[in-house]
Amino acid sequence: MIEITVSARGAARWQRGHPWIYRTDVTREPAAAERRPGIASVHDRRGRFLGRALYSPASEIRLRLLARDNVPIDGAWWRSRIGAALARRRDVPASACRVVHAEGDGLPSLVVDRYGPWVVAQLLSAGLEAARADVLDAIRDVLEPDGLLLRHDTTVRRHEELPLDVETVFGAVPDEVEVVEHGVRYLAAPRTGQKTGAFLDQRENRRLVGEHTAPGGRALDVFTYHGSFALHLAGRAGTVLAVDQSAEALARGARNAALNGLTNVRWREANAFDLLRELERSGERFDTIVIDPPAFAKSRDSVTRALAGYKELNLRAMRILAPGGILFTCSCSYHVSRTLFTAMLADAAADAERRLQVVAWTGAAPDHPELVTVPETGYLKGTLLRAVE
Ligand code: SAH
Repeated sequence: MIEITVSARGAARWQRGHPWIYRTDVTREPAAAERRPGIASVHDRRGRFLGRALYSPASEIRLRLLARDNVPIDGAWWRSRIGAALARRRDVPASACRVVHAEGDGLPSLVVDRYGPWVVAQLLSAGLEAARADVLDAIRDVLEPDGLLLRHDTTVRRHEELPLDVETVFGAVPDEVEVVEHGVRYLAAPRTGQKTGAFLDQRENRRLVGEHTAPGGRALDVFTYHGSFALHLAGRAGTVLAVDQSAEALARGARNAALNGLTNVRWREANAFDLLRELERSGERFDTIVIDPPAFAKSRDSVTRALAGYKELNLRAMRILAPGGILFTCSCSYHVSRTLFTAMLADAAADAERRLQVVAWTGAAPDHPELVTVPETGYLKGTLLRAVE
């Protein structure tokens, strides 16, 4: 067993409900030459037992709390935690769902997404990677998938000095999997797509926007990826313009539209900033607009620039929004708080000289739970606005 001692400040973080202890709060750990990732037993400086945690000797986040009681972290433990997370997803109204949302489910650095009979998982810390055999066995026992794929080609693994790759653990996970979500069908790409193949966190927002789409009107989905919002808009709108810079994602989007018998979506490969400028210049108007950009702020240092980007997008969207129109806008940058996001929207609305009513504040779908004590679990913030005169 790896033995670690932490400072009073480190211990206080667990006390306050946050599972991370940083390098600077570790006061005793194995000598550099003997450091190996794994599951550690953690004590305070007086020798009091604090809990068991994943230990990542190369990472700034040294410890991630698993359990505060002195229980063995074995196959049965992983099965029980993953089983409990699965039980909480019983009512998710879709064939694809996040079964384990890492810290949000008390399983730090573990992501498990289910796509029908297949599972795509991510082990995102060195400590967790060291427990790999137990974790993968537990996923297999609890979810009984036909195949298990690891999407380890994500850059956060670099902070842990872990290799970046994509690996099939067992079974044959297809290149494309059909997902059914609130009456809409779409193909996700577990091997090559973004995240684990789709943006499952926006599921309920897509339904919400679909329900508020102006019947017969013009709709615009900016940053459409493979058409996820566009498909929901197209059920009601007269026409939908779906925009992304990825030709590959748009090609899947077009097949997704066909899968639903939709013929009113136009797919346009373009830079969103350029396209919005062009639409504004040519005096176009849309009754329903969705703005779902990638995370512009990857770190605290980039928040100012990110806010400028968000503001430009939203300002232009507000200008081309028809009277009475609906705008759904969001940010998935953790570093852009809801307060900053709201202030940015106020700025944009003032500059656009539009009166925008809040129809709803939204977050990620409930299978991506936020913990009140762990702000990092609440990265996605969105709002549905209506332009009134
Ligand atoms: N709305 C999607 C998710 C969008 S993710 C859904 O619900 O599934 C962000 C998307 O923005 C990606 O598909 C990426 O290709 C695209 N993108 C990033 N920068 C862009 C830019 N400057 N112009 C257009 N598309 C961009």
